[in-house]
Amino acid sequence: MSAAPAATAATPDTPRLRPLVTERGSAGFFSAAARRRIEILTCEDCGRRIHLPRPRCVHCGSTNVSWTPAPHTGTVYSHTVVEHQVHPLFPVPYTVIVVDLDGEEDGVRLIGNLPGRAEVTAGTPVRCTFEDLGEDAAGNPVVLPVWEIDTERASSGTEEDA
Ligand SMILES: [Zn+2]
Repeated sequence: MSAAPAATAATPDTPRLRPLVTERGSAGFFSAAARRRIEILTCEDCGRRIHLPRPRCVHCGSTNVSWTPAPHTGTVYSHTVVEHQVHPLFPVPYTVIVVDLDGEEDGVRLIGNLPGRAEVTAGTPVRCTFEDLGEDAAGNPVVLPVWEIDTERASSGTEEDA
């Protein structure tokens, strides 16, 4: 092993860390991602979202919960640019974003990142794509929802359809 490489921008050849896709609480999320869908845990009794996922509904206590589809578009709720490298596989700079999914209730937000010092602010429209990271050691597909600025919506101005 040579010395730690200097911080550089991520490239398609940059090795990636894979999320654990079989953990009980989040396996449904990653199973949906493998089918190129975003799904959020939902209570079948009161109809509300349970996010972050829990074994029972945080609103009514029901254990009758299931993963149901959510939009693949959203807006940036908040962001920060990471300039200090904390892991060799996450070269800086990169921009961490918190995404409000379109049409979802308050608090249904996903975390993502964009390469470099992204030109985003609160309200910047983003859309989800899916990055195939191969398979884990057990052969489960590992697909990660990733975000990109929705340039079509960004250039058409801010349409608030509250
Ligand atoms: Zn409920």
